[in-house]
Amino acid sequence: MTLRTDAARLLPDLVRLRRRLHADPEVGFDLPRTQATVLAELDALPLEVMTGRTLSSVTAVLRGAAPGPAVLLRADMDALPIVEQTGLAFSASGGAMHACGHDLHTAGLIGAARLLAARRERIAGSVVLMFQPGEEAGGGAPRMIAEGVLDAAGPRVCAAYGIHVLPGRSGVFSTRPGPLMAGANLLHVQITGRGGHGSRPHQAVDPVPVLAELVLALQTYTTRRVPVSDPVVISVTRLHAGDAVNVIPDNAGLSASVRTLSATAVKRLRLELPVLVREIAAAYGCRAETTFEVGYPVTVNDAVCAIAARDVLRSEFGPERVETLESPIMASEDFSFVLDEVPGAFVFVGATPTGMRPEDAEMNHSPRAVFDDAILGDQAAALAALALRHVTG
Ligand SMILES: [Zn+2]
Repeated sequence: MTLRTDAARLLPDLVRLRRRLHADPEVGFDLPRTQATVLAELDALPLEVMTGRTLSSVTAVLRGAAPGPAVLLRADMDALPIVEQTGLAFSASGGAMHACGHDLHTAGLIGAARLLAARRERIAGSVVLMFQPGEEAGGGAPRMIAEGVLDAAGPRVCAAYGIHVLPGRSGVFSTRPGPLMAGANLLHVQITGRGGHGSRPHQAVDPVPVLAELVLALQTYTTRRVPVSDPVVISVTRLHAGDAVNVIPDNAGLSASVRTLSATAVKRLRLELPVLVREIAAAYGCRAETTFEVGYPVTVNDAVCAIAARDVLRSEFGPERVETLESPIMASEDFSFVLDEVPGAFVFVGATPTGMRPEDAEMNHSPRAVFDDAILGDQAAALAALALRHVTG
């Protein structure tokens, strides 16, 4: 029985499970109903199961028949605070939605657990299954690392893998060695001038034009000062100034999302952005305060693991189902914290439903994003195959 044929038999069950999770999404670190569902699904399997102390995570260890290394597979389980507009029969009602496909990730990892448990006799070593809350909400992965997920089997895991759904040809896997996804950082700027009457700007120190100039200066900075070989994206996403239309305010501020592909870029931005902001503000007689918050690191695939993952998936699904991405994508992932600790690879799988062109599909995080759950069997088989490469006796 191959992994794929075995997984195909699980598919109806995994689709039902995914739709159940989709209809009942939970946001953040505390996902009691999702956790209960995962625990119930794992119950019949020969696993050592632990739950999180500071978040509703589930860590399960499958021990093979013989000793050997440990490998980790991860699924995130949390949803987004979005009102669903897909019109699907199993839509969520209320203010949360699985708009990033984490419902598929959870169901896919349950499938992998079943496939691997059925092959336990052939496994030399252990597989750690990491069911993680709080991917969207600021770092469930580092919390699970702090609680010991990487050492759950005893020896530290030698490699870690995760799969994420994206718009794209259904069932086509893609990855690349090296940087895969961007680091996410936040820039906050507060400009202080001196408010006054809207009719007498010369008697005030107006912080609003400084804000306007900064929005454009930040764009010029990314094209003139940042090397194209190590690109940065700065999107100013929040502006705030006065409340009354006839009053010049004392203060004005902006916030921006800053995406990076290297630690060098982060270092450069932390050094140079406060100077840029301060000098522009000073030119207009204002003071500036800049905060740079470093968020998720760059998701960097280990070259050996990424190339091996590509080969494993090619032999499992055929070369036409596995692509190498030419460049990283600028979205971010907290699986980056895992890949900062141990080698491994993160892989994307296309999940645009049949009948829809991938280029017309809504991106993850859209209230209209839909994903094809017919991929769940292959997704489970892929995860199992990635683990088995490390622990086949
Ligand atoms: Zn996601």
